[in-house]
Amino acid sequence: MTKRDYYEVLGVSRGASEEEIKKAYRKLALKYHPDRNPGDKEAEERFKEAAEAYEVLRDPEKRRLYDAYGHDGVKGAGFQGFSGFDDIFSTFNDIFSDLFGFSASSSGARHGRAGRDLRYDLTISFLDAVKGAEKTLEIERLEVCSSCNGVGMREGREPQRCPTCDGAGQVLRVQGFFRLTTVCPSCNGSGVFINDPCPECNGRGRRPEKKQVSLKIPPGVDTGVSLRLNSEGEAGTNGGPRGDLYVVIHVEPHQFFERRDNDIYLNVELPFTQAALGTTLKLPVIDGEEEIRVEPGLQTGDTIRLKGKGTYDLRGIGKGDFVIQFFVKTPTRLTDRQKELLREFQEIEDGKQESGEHSFGSGFLKKLFKKFDFFDKSDDKKGH
Ligand SMILES: [Zn+2]
Ligand SMILES: [Zn+2]
Repeated sequence: MTKRDYYEVLGVSRGASEEEIKKAYRKLALKYHPDRNPGDKEAEERFKEAAEAYEVLRDPEKRRLYDAYGHDGVKGAGFQGFSGFDDIFSTFNDIFSDLFGFSASSSGARHGRAGRDLRYDLTISFLDAVKGAEKTLEIERLEVCSSCNGVGMREGREPQRCPTCDGAGQVLRVQGFFRLTTVCPSCNGSGVFINDPCPECNGRGRRPEKKQVSLKIPPGVDTGVSLRLNSEGEAGTNGGPRGDLYVVIHVEPHQFFERRDNDIYLNVELPFTQAALGTTLKLPVIDGEEEIRVEPGLQTGDTIRLKGKGTYDLRGIGKGDFVIQFFVKTPTRLTDRQKELLREFQEIEDGKQESGEHSFGSGFLKKLFKKFDFFDKSDDKKGH
């Protein structure tokens, strides 16, 4: 990777004054500070790059060598650049103190507070829950104020050291035998005294903003499932980490499908003639339609199970089934002709019974009465 020109890095002209260089670096250091950009590699590189450029250009001797011989000139003078953040922070602690009026080392001296976790209730359709979906959520959350970079001061103003804690961000309290160190109540741990607050955030360093967050809903979610989106909650204060966003799922009921565990149920009403004679039906399933063969003699409560055509298990143990549950429907409004045919049907059934053939008619009732007989006798035996 070729090294960028130090002046370019800081965005200043070659004839820039010490004050201009300092100001330019301060702006970049605040913008790309690792506390404010956790996990952002690009920001990390920019932060290091700016630190290196400033380290060279603030020193008149190093700057002279750089102006004359470029990057090689500085290298020849024994400057190697920085290996990492700890390196930058230890070398720069004094510079930071000088720049900000207080120590600005990573996560240590300044007392950043984590942003709050947020909750978002999302209602999704039955099929989105079963098949999975991608959604874009619009949320309002506190973001680091871009105008003051979270410092809370009006742009261009130098932050003042907090007089209560002398810039330390924490105060010592003596309570009886105890000596407690607590976050400074005047500056909330920032160490900065806001005497000229940023008008965009009223000196708070954060302000509410509307953000779009994309969410991948895994197939198989159900009402009550909470999906966590790391670092999509509120921004922290003073460089504290972001909170998380919890999306709580609510699934709308479906007109026809019903979920039981990972199985999907579909209730189908079938006229008794089709149930008796058998038929072929086209039925809606999760992925469209399926042709279902109904064998003759179907009864209410009979089910057909389509293996693995239900919903995914969220714990990753396969898929449920698609279950078709049948209900045989008795006709209620019959024409005279239909009644006539059914009576004829009844007569044939009665005939079958007398000849001892299997039937679903009164033979069942006879058996039922026999059973009651049996119970009555056994009760008698006990002689209660
Ligand atoms: Zn602000
Ligand atoms: Zn303070």
